[in-house]
Amino acid sequence: MNSTKCQKCGLTNFATDLECKRCGTSFVQKTRNSGSRPKFSIIAVVMFAGVAAAFYYVFTGVQGSVDKVNSVEANRVNAQPVLPPDAGRSRADYDRYRSQTVANAVGVSPGLAEHANRTQQTDKAMDQMTNSRAQ
Ligand SMILES: [Zn+2]
Repeated sequence: MNSTKCQKCGLTNFATDLECKRCGTSFVQKTRNSGSRPKFSIIAVVMFAGVAAAFYYVFTGVQGSVDKVNSVEANRVNAQPVLPPDAGRSRADYDRYRSQTVANAVGVSPGLAEHANRTQQTDKAMDQMTNSRAQ
């Protein structure tokens, strides 16, 4: 393209000309404006609307889910039985109560009892090995 047609009067000028030979319209300003002018297309508007709708859909969905979880959680908390408080129990009494619970668990559970038995055997074996090397 080695010629520039004037937008105002229609005269064909050389491409190197900065303004029209007949009417003096500047080509530099014209080309820069048309190049950097933001193009307002309907596709961009539709895409923006789609993105906005998607965000709105996700936001309302999350909000509805959170509301549902909150209501379910409130119902669950209300449905739980109220346990008697440990009022008046001293720290020593509480520790004794806890240790009894753990001891009962070890005594009742065969798995925990077996674990305690194996630990004892391992300690015994390690003691023997240490003693035999020391001799
Ligand atoms: Zn012109």
